[in-house]
Amino acid sequence: ETMINQIAAGEVIERPASVVKELVENALDAGATRIEIVTGGGGLNLVRVTDDGGGIAEDELALALSRHCTSKLVQDIHDIRSLGFRGEALPSIGSVARLTIRSRTAQAPNAAEIGIEGGRASPVRPAAANRGTTVEVRDLFFATPARLKFMKGERAESTATSDVVKRMAIAFPAVRFTLAGTDRSTLELPATADNAEGRLDRIAQVMGRNFPDNALPINAEREGVRLSGYASIPSFTRANALQQYAYVNGRPVRDKLIAGAIRGAYADVLPRDRHAVTALFLKLDPALVDVNVHPAKTDVRFRDPGLVRGLIVGAIRQALAQAGI
Ligand code: ADP
Ligand code: MG
Repeated sequence: ETMINQIAAGEVIERPASVVKELVENALDAGATRIEIVTGGGGLNLVRVTDDGGGIAEDELALALSRHCTSKLVQDIHDIRSLGFRGEALPSIGSVARLTIRSRTAQAPNAAEIGIEGGRASPVRPAAANRGTTVEVRDLFFATPARLKFMKGERAESTATSDVVKRMAIAFPAVRFTLAGTDRSTLELPATADNAEGRLDRIAQVMGRNFPDNALPINAEREGVRLSGYASIPSFTRANALQQYAYVNGRPVRDKLIAGAIRGAYADVLPRDRHAVTALFLKLDPALVDVNVHPAKTDVRFRDPGLVRGLIVGAIRQALAQAGI
């Protein structure tokens, strides 16, 4: 069992940022409105995520650590409302690190806690905590030293973690996110309204006021596929594409087709080595897109890639043209 979980961990947990992604997704699935992330040593020594969500009942703590055990119902594989549904993240992490879950539901008189180290779980014990869940991951990959060697150093791991949190935070503007670490990659993102205005405020919190100030609003629809968001004016560019944020049905994605469409849209107005800054949100019938191609990757598969590409290229070009660019 531990072996199987370690193999799964090899797929799902590539680095500290993957731990943060899984834990934050769980917190969001639990309905959290405040998510606090603390890291140490670039996340290799410590990742701790605390939420104010629904919590886990004491008698379900051990279940949360067993493989393919998920409390999230999957009625239709194409219509997944929860971010996670495989029941793989916690057992995987628990097989390669020291993991503690402390949780309390609204009904419970007190909190309870369980630990797992390199696949070995401890008995559930009473603990003190407010409603919600704290998951603490220490010494990531201590049980699989070969993987530790692939880590790029504290700085690079912190940057990757901060990037994951930013991507998620833009998708959930009404949730307060904080990220604190031992270096400068800290974030404090107060909750904003859960509407278009709130989303714009959150984008500005994450990317800086300069971005929406130097961007054109994008709004278009083709055959039931809706595109909204912001795309920078050609004078506001970056040397890499890291500041291109994309969402499909509210889920952060990093997708070649979308990146290619953005490049295509700016082909005539940007040199090849400059990249536009964008935050684009696609909404379409969930049956027309597969967002679960790979558990850890964030690429997607559209039923009609040409339609999506055409929509993005067309909408950005039209916005540029309307601005006289
Ligand atoms: P999945 O998210 O795919 O269900 P995980 O291994 O990530 O699988 O989590 C296992 C289960 O543990 C979840 O289905 C959920 O019931 C519970 N859980 C994990 N994290 C939290 C959390 N922060 N709040 C409430 N429940 C949680
Ligand atoms: Mg999960």
